[in-house]
Amino acid sequence: MKKLINAPERVVEEMLEGLAALDPSLRKLPGKNVLVRRDAENVKNDRVAIISGGGSGHEPAHAGYVGKGMLSAAVAGEVFTSPSPDAVLAAIKATAGSKGALLIVKNYTGDRLNFGLAAEQARLEGIAVEMVIVADDVALADSNERTGRRGLAGTLFVHKIAGAASEEGKPLVEVAALARSVAEAVRTMGVALSPCTVPGASQSSFTLEADEIELGLGIHGEAGARKMLLEPADAIVDRLLDAILSDAKIPPNRRIALLVNNLGGATGLELAIVARRAIARLEQEKLILERAYAGSFLTSLEMSGVSLSILPVDDRFVNLLDASTTASAWPNAAELRKNPKSISSEEHATDIFEMKLPSQTPQTPFGARFESILNQLAATLLAQAERFNELDRHAGDGDFGTSLARGMKQVLEKMRTWNLDEPSSTFREMSSTLQTVLGGTSGPLLAVMLLRASIALRDRSPLDPIGWADAFDASAAGVRELGGASEGDRTMLDSLAPAARAFREGLGKGLSSRDAVRQALYAAQSGATATAQMMPRLGRSSYLGARALGHKDPGAEAISSFMAILDSLLNPPE
Ligand code: ADP
Ligand code: MG
Repeated sequence: MKKLINAPERVVEEMLEGLAALDPSLRKLPGKNVLVRRDAENVKNDRVAIISGGGSGHEPAHAGYVGKGMLSAAVAGEVFTSPSPDAVLAAIKATAGSKGALLIVKNYTGDRLNFGLAAEQARLEGIAVEMVIVADDVALADSNERTGRRGLAGTLFVHKIAGAASEEGKPLVEVAALARSVAEAVRTMGVALSPCTVPGASQSSFTLEADEIELGLGIHGEAGARKMLLEPADAIVDRLLDAILSDAKIPPNRRIALLVNNLGGATGLELAIVARRAIARLEQEKLILERAYAGSFLTSLEMSGVSLSILPVDDRFVNLLDASTTASAWPNAAELRKNPKSISSEEHATDIFEMKLPSQTPQTPFGARFESILNQLAATLLAQAERFNELDRHAGDGDFGTSLARGMKQVLEKMRTWNLDEPSSTFREMSSTLQTVLGGTSGPLLAVMLLRASIALRDRSPLDPIGWADAFDASAAGVRELGGASEGDRTMLDSLAPAARAFREGLGKGLSSRDAVRQALYAAQSGATATAQMMPRLGRSSYLGARALGHKDPGAEAISSFMAILDSLLNPPE
């Protein structure tokens, strides 16, 4: 696994140096992997020191939560390794005064022991220290023991609420009691799509097949409760929430806060999709969602996945969650984000342009053939989506097959309502369907192609070969005009234009429309083949230059698939 590091043994120290350099309100203790608030000395007799930490690799935890209103110090162990007691003790001594210190510790044996020993030593030196253990993981639900559970992203709620209470000037006993009540109430469960690799290690902590996910994993890259096959996001979110809600037994109408945590490698796109479902599902459960947060809070290096945490809240908790903090990693927009909205009814209202159309059955032999041919075309393009993506990877961004498949699924869904006896009307519908769902560069080009064909075929018999010759020419002209390509530029035009020419020439030579279509198909195929030797000059592939050589243009190849079905459309089997 490639990483941007200098030396595995120096990653934590160098990270802390970088963080301290970025944020002037933080200070790294000399010779220790501890970051403290620079003003710690000034406030230590007025505020309970709040200290947390653990292994590194969970960034922005824990250094990102150091600041007024949250942590006084973060103690950073090596990656996924507990810090030593002397580092914890140094953090306590640097930040705790007469009000004492609260240690917030995630439930791992190493953390318990190292923080626990440091707490004892600090007490011997006369510093009041309390420790709260967070064990919010519900994945290990079978072991009913709370002690067996791990500490996960729910810890963030403990940091925030304890930090805000300390900032109010509350005494240690009160801050500790509050922190314990949060720790007891919060529940978390995660899912991973890919594992993570510790800097310097040659292998990831666990392995997953391409279609596998790991449910209920720990944040140290340890394997989860069980492996299962990838499902749609909504189903996975439901599984996480099922586990949390059945464990937490939160009654309806209870107020809650939700934390959607990126485990490191999930995209913003995925995170929002997960949040969308989580919010909708919690509403279905009649829970009152007071606050929702989504982002990277407690990660596991580059692990792709998310965890969900739920905390039942009351006014006191909500106020403390909303209290402002200078910690860089806590979202401070709480004021603006009050009462996260359900997926609004507007989103679900039917599009006024989407009128419900009745199903139609083809009435003519041509219509019946057209129907079966569109089905074949869709099946072919869907089956070949990966091949088209592969071609597009060599010449562009690798989405062409996925786009075509998306288009064809819509075509399959909508074609029942089309008048398949009339190719003009069908092409027009197909054009508008593809234009809506395809996007990209090929979307508008295929749409104009079909639109021009539709216009050319208007008021013509579907079996009139000259109508089809006109339709071909018009399609090629449409693509040329809209896209600005000429033949030889390595685009779909390189198979469409020769096909159009071959069809008209074939008819001119007196060929039957059957044989003329065959000629057009050959022309399209050899045109597509020729694109493999063309330097791309237009579209995204032009950025790749000679690197695209040796691979056919996906658009040209799609046109020849398209042509292959026209072959049987105009040529009824005898
Ligand atoms: P992108 O991902 O670049 O937006 P798509 O993957 O949707 O584009 O479509 C790529 C195909 O579009 C190419 O294989 C090529 O055949 C076709 N194409 C790109 N530019 C043009 C153009 N100017 N004229 C005609 N076809 C084009
Ligand atoms: Mg593309």
